[in-house]
Amino acid sequence: MAVPRKKNSIHKKHIRHSAWLRNNLVKLTEKYQRVKCSNCGKYKLSHRVCPSCGYYAGKQVLTIKSKTRVAL
Ligand SMILES: [Zn+2]
Repeated sequence: MAVPRKKNSIHKKHIRHSAWLRNNLVKLTEKYQRVKCSNCGKYKLSHRVCPSCGYYAGKQVLTIKSKTRVAL
């Protein structure tokens, strides 16, 4: 069995994962059905809590502290 000669560094792992995410983000967003949030109007996954405002079925279920952008 082939054995890796050297352990990959954490930085190399991050490069690989970011490249994978960049290439597959469009496929992932097309795969899952997105619906508009009834509260804020942004796209979210269906039957999930809205990541930008924290609403689900017209009720506030999460308090969103950070204002980071979520790509859906
Ligand atoms: Zn929302």
